[in-house]
Amino acid sequence: MTTWEELARRIFSDVEHTPEEYEALYPPRSLPEGARVTRLAPSPTGFLHLGVFFAAMINRVTADASDGLFYFRLEDTDSKRAVAGGEEDLLRGLTAYGIAIDEGLTAPGADSGAYGPYRQSERTALYHAYVRHLMEQGLAYLCFCSEEQRQADRERQEQEKQRTGYYGPYAHCRTLSPEEALRRIEAGESYVVRLRSPGSEERRIKFDDLIRGVIELPENDEDIVLLKSDGIPTYHFAHAVDDHLMRTTHVIRGEEWVPSVPKHLQLFQVLGFRPPKYAHISPIMKAEGESRRKLSKRKDPEAAMRYYAEQGYPADSVQEYLMTIASSGFEDWRRCNPDAPRSDFPFQLKKMSVSGALFDMDKFRDVSKAVISRMDVAAVTQAVTSWAKEYDPAFHALLSRDPAYAEAIFSIDRGGKKPRKDIACWSEAKDYAAYFYDELYQPSMEGMPEGLTAADARAVLEMYPTVYDPAQEQQEWFAAIKALCPSLGFCPEVKEYKQNPAGWKGHAGDVSTLLRLAVTGRRNTPDLCAILRLLGPERVRGRLAQAAQAL
Ligand code: GLU
Repeated sequence: MTTWEELARRIFSDVEHTPEEYEALYPPRSLPEGARVTRLAPSPTGFLHLGVFFAAMINRVTADASDGLFYFRLEDTDSKRAVAGGEEDLLRGLTAYGIAIDEGLTAPGADSGAYGPYRQSERTALYHAYVRHLMEQGLAYLCFCSEEQRQADRERQEQEKQRTGYYGPYAHCRTLSPEEALRRIEAGESYVVRLRSPGSEERRIKFDDLIRGVIELPENDEDIVLLKSDGIPTYHFAHAVDDHLMRTTHVIRGEEWVPSVPKHLQLFQVLGFRPPKYAHISPIMKAEGESRRKLSKRKDPEAAMRYYAEQGYPADSVQEYLMTIASSGFEDWRRCNPDAPRSDFPFQLKKMSVSGALFDMDKFRDVSKAVISRMDVAAVTQAVTSWAKEYDPAFHALLSRDPAYAEAIFSIDRGGKKPRKDIACWSEAKDYAAYFYDELYQPSMEGMPEGLTAADARAVLEMYPTVYDPAQEQQEWFAAIKALCPSLGFCPEVKEYKQNPAGWKGHAGDVSTLLRLAVTGRRNTPDLCAILRLLGPERVRGRLAQAAQAL
């Protein structure tokens, strides 16, 4: 007579420790009372999705709000879905976008913490210890059903409009004796290990989701797979063991996992673990016409974190905006605390949207412009330069030819109470800075003040050099323009001009618009006096002459 206990020991001869020993190896963490331990547990299935980044950020701020800890575990048990370089992409994206990871896989090639290993593929012996333990108690059994048998059952279930899954009459191997199982193993049959579910569809479970409130669902009665035929655990099983041994207090993840909670709670129960608290985040939405839909990996480039890197959006912009959609109170808080670090915001999961936060590109760009407008010049120059190094080598070459000149460009109108909000991302810096580089400058007099003729404009451009002095500061500079006005038929004062517009060709502002167009090719730029100073007299005179000639 074989018992389940004997069979379990025989199958899992690789087990190194008992569950009790693991409890001692991974003891409760010594953190302050109430500290939350959160985690991101992605699978390496491709690029870093905005939704995963969002979840990482929510996990991070939840841990921070309690002096807790946020760790990263890689759920790489599904080798069919794994993508080469997936782990690195995830970690690179998270760290580049400002998510600090306290423990686990903390950056590409880096690993730290006493609760590891943090890759599920390196934890097989550990999972086997727990499966063995379940089997010894008769809570897990071996299933030899073939894929064909499973497929036939599924088809029948669909035809008869029943739930699909391995339960009740479909759980064929549930009643196999340990002797029979042993005989079939010895005959070389392949098998999986299943949970002997103690649940019933008739009963309901209840749990308090920290975002969505109380949720009630039928108990799990499926004998779910714990170990696949190659001995690798399923996600459901592995994550329960890991969340327990890594002493996770809060599982914060995507809404798509809500239907799995009954399975998960049951696993925690049969394993004798205390369940974590759950919070399920709604997906990020996008407006399409009148309706809303989930941000889509396929349709929306902004669904991939790669997009933000390629466009050159600062980490701070992305996080600042995501906080506004994560918490309805964030914007008001930010208005009252314009300079406070985000970590001061009292974040609460229960204030998150249940219907799904809307990602509004225009609003995101406005937030990013504001973030960039508040950065200091050294940081801007450094960020533009390193973005260009990777994504625009020609622009990078221009910037690095004279780093002090580059810095001077980005310093114009920076600082002060109402900084300009010209660019939302670093890829826009090239266009912003174009007229400072002869290689990029494109002359254009398009957008001249209304009513002026080419001859009027030419006269202004030809006369201006007579009062131009590169040493002038703002006030002197504008005073010189005003002084030039009457002789050209322009009114020095706008107010006076408005009283009698017919009496003049234009006013001093129109003169500076003409100069601006001639020198930069743009109607709208930062402080023109500073631009002239930076371009230097030779280039200024050259461009004025060129523009006058072209008119
Ligand atoms: N590996 C799962 C995923 O890819 C993790 C789900 C969870 O956080 O429990 O989303």
